[in-house]
Amino acid sequence: MVCKLDVDVEEKTAWVESGATIGQLNYRIAEKSQNLLTFPVGTCPGVGVGGHFSGGGYGVLLRKYGLSADHIVDAHMVDVKGRFLNRESMGEDLFWAIRGGGGASFGIIVSWKINLVAVPPTVTVFNVPRTLEQNATKLLFKWQCIADKVHEDLFISPLLSRVNSTMVSAFTALFLGGVDRLLPLIQDSFPELGLTRKDCREMTFVESIVYFDGYEVEDPINVDVLLGRDFHVRFFRGKADYLTEPIPEEAFQGIYDIFFEQDQETNGVLLFFPYGGKISEISESEIPYPHRAGNIYTLLYYAGWDLESTDDTYQRHDNMLKKLFNYMTPYVAKNPRTAYINYRDLDVGTNDKLGHTSVQEASVWGKKYFKNNFYRLVHVKTMVDPENFFRNEQSIPPFNLVKDEL
Ligand SMILES: Cc1cc2nc3c(=O)[nH]c(=O)nc-3n(C[C@H](O)[C@H](O)[C@H](O)COP(=O)(O)OP(=O)(O)OC[C@H]3O[C@@H](n4cnc5c(N)ncnc54)[C@H](O)[C@@H]3O)c2cc1C
Repeated sequence: MVCKLDVDVEEKTAWVESGATIGQLNYRIAEKSQNLLTFPVGTCPGVGVGGHFSGGGYGVLLRKYGLSADHIVDAHMVDVKGRFLNRESMGEDLFWAIRGGGGASFGIIVSWKINLVAVPPTVTVFNVPRTLEQNATKLLFKWQCIADKVHEDLFISPLLSRVNSTMVSAFTALFLGGVDRLLPLIQDSFPELGLTRKDCREMTFVESIVYFDGYEVEDPINVDVLLGRDFHVRFFRGKADYLTEPIPEEAFQGIYDIFFEQDQETNGVLLFFPYGGKISEISESEIPYPHRAGNIYTLLYYAGWDLESTDDTYQRHDNMLKKLFNYMTPYVAKNPRTAYINYRDLDVGTNDKLGHTSVQEASVWGKKYFKNNFYRLVHVKTMVDPENFFRNEQSIPPFNLVKDEL
């Protein structure tokens, strides 16, 4: 599928159709700007622009620039009456709603106009694995204390998994600059990691996207893969949490125990994404995505498996993630326990089978995703789609929809 993608380097903007992938988007911007511009998006190049932007969209640039949705300046969409709208004709309420409220409740977004952001010609990446025997627990605890406070050019994201009889925390990082500037920063804030020049690799930002998708990549890195669509096609189960306090050091053992009690075929990972910087500076109500100041990181519980899996594969992985999720209850954001619409999780509550519900019932899951922005989303939905044409298990309901009469 070829999607239109017009990059204007002078104006530092682009129009991108919803069917493009975020890999294609980054590739074209890098190509047109000689690697000096990009757009903040998630770490998996195969993800589509349509859902990603309309739910928020975060990745390695979230500390420097915030979310994808924070940089959208116009959109073309088709509403329930079949009208083709732009920002001016849809109005500011609807334009607000589709930037983080999940596009599927409001219409079909055809394309987006985005403001591009600057990146230096050279960035530095590293991926430093540490086992329990190499002090992984102490390092993870320390990471929680510095991750949201270090320089906003630095994004360090641990990935915790089981490898044979130990746990490994792989500290993966992107730094917006060269290794000479990075090393003193790490020495200052996270010397315990023991990072050396040998661990680091300099590259262009667009190459780092390929690196983050696979870590082990050839030299030179082939960025043309970003134009394809066949990225690691896997089934997976995911859940998310936000943390406002560090997990106590002694509580990590309970996490490891859950990993160790799984059989060899059941694999999960925990991915820690640091907050702080730009994402935390923007107000909770600027767009529907409300998870801003006060969060030190977000945690993704992820379990993936290949297509040729047996029938009970989903169940085993789901059980594992639910155990981890339950165990984490005391340590994560509360009242509500917040969630991210782009990691849609039906466990937090759903509409009825037809996608209808009352505002009160939907507020149970709606406030987890959107906090008080949920009510403004309901207001917008009521204005633009009062009959609830655009609906799914977790679409925003309009006011006055009496479920029993449907
Ligand atoms: C492998 C993988 C890695 C991911 N990594 C990240 C990450 O790093 N950061 C992050 O923030 N998220 C990440 N995500 C989550 C991702 O942002 C969401 O799954 C997103 O919804 C995907 O959008 P899509 O268009 O590809 O998906 P789809 O499944 O096509 O759509 C998802 C939802 O968006 C709606 N939608 C899609 N297009 C439109 C449109 N044009 N108009 C209106 N509604 C539309 C759909 O109806 C559906 O409800 C990841 C997902 C995967 C599968």
